[in-house]
Amino acid sequence: MASESTLRFGAQTDEMTSLLRIVNLVRTGEAVTRPEIGRLTGLGRGVVAQRVDHAIEVGFLQDGEFAPSSGGRAPRTLRFRAERGRVIICALGALHIHVGLADLDGAILADSHRAWDIARGPEETLDEAMSMIDRLVAEDAAPGTPVWAITVGVPGPVDFTSGRPVAPPIMPGWNGFDIRTRFEERFDAPTWVDNDVNILAFSERERRENDSIDLIYCKIGSGIGAGLLSRGRVHRGANGAAGDIGHVRVLDSEELCRCGKVGCLEAVAGGWALVRDAQRALDEGGGGALAKRVADGAAITPESISRAAEGGDALAISLIRKSARVAGESIATLVNVFNPSIIVIGGAVAAAGELFLAEVRQRVYELSLPLATRDLSIVNSLNDQREPLRGGAALAREELFDETFPRWFADGAPTVARIHSVD
Ligand SMILES: [Zn+2]
Repeated sequence: MASESTLRFGAQTDEMTSLLRIVNLVRTGEAVTRPEIGRLTGLGRGVVAQRVDHAIEVGFLQDGEFAPSSGGRAPRTLRFRAERGRVIICALGALHIHVGLADLDGAILADSHRAWDIARGPEETLDEAMSMIDRLVAEDAAPGTPVWAITVGVPGPVDFTSGRPVAPPIMPGWNGFDIRTRFEERFDAPTWVDNDVNILAFSERERRENDSIDLIYCKIGSGIGAGLLSRGRVHRGANGAAGDIGHVRVLDSEELCRCGKVGCLEAVAGGWALVRDAQRALDEGGGGALAKRVADGAAITPESISRAAEGGDALAISLIRKSARVAGESIATLVNVFNPSIIVIGGAVAAAGELFLAEVRQRVYELSLPLATRDLSIVNSLNDQREPLRGGAALAREELFDETFPRWFADGAPTVARIHSVD
């Protein structure tokens, strides 16, 4: 990946190109001794020694333990100095804020979580997120470690180049808000803003340790969206709208969507639509677990519907099945266009597990081309609260070391000015 991206910068010297590659080989663990680097790069021993010395001097690498000897003198291992910088991850959900602090290898060192309604708008929400981040940074075991990168995930489409949300249906007041500059000014570190489903797709790539995976992460929460990875690279499309399947029209629906259109997938299969349908059924005298919940004074949520379905409640099961059936049809279209090897389904509605998955599988196999489904697996996400943090750290590493590395390598650490310089 590294060599490919450095080539894109054109004006690199051979020396610089091999230097970046060597740091990345050690960083990813592909080669951790000088002889291994020589074998993978085809560079001579003297050149490898010189480049490694340079990388040590700039502060990226460090001599480590001796590797096990294979007969002759044991070679010294090299290690990437992941502790030199920190990555801040800010995962904003519709109803929560989750922030984390990671090292440059993506290990999550600390995190903090709170309930929060994103409809309170960007000013108030980012102030709250930033004070949560301040607390994490203040408690860092290695005080003063510089922040090298920040990634921000939001539940809606983002123009990745400018770091601004684009008409996000559930984020009133956020359209066009300059999230990136807000973070860069506050923390003096390069910032990337992305749709949360892309970040979740990154998390799945990391967990599967497969850098060239063809994967779709489909989130069926209150809203619906999909993150697409092609050969391990996220496909955002020309305007950041790729995978935004929640507001594509489905057949036979006249339901009004919260985006203002009629008949969107989300207005039939999203969590908020199921809550609406549950309410309608109860108004017409429906009983069961959800009726009991309302009688007890609790609100119906997407989570409560999937839990009731798991518990065998007939109304909840029919709602979950309907969501899965209609979502499955849209996913089948994605499968035919995109031909992934794996579809990961996450989100509160999909938390109903096998019940949801079985219906999606059936629709996808019915409606997709046999060749596109021959090796396809459809699985549930881990549903682990830390997934967005791991994914955000992966996005930061990709942007720092695969995309922008040549711009700032010589400085020894990334800066906002260098990352955004146009060469
Ligand atoms: Zn819509």
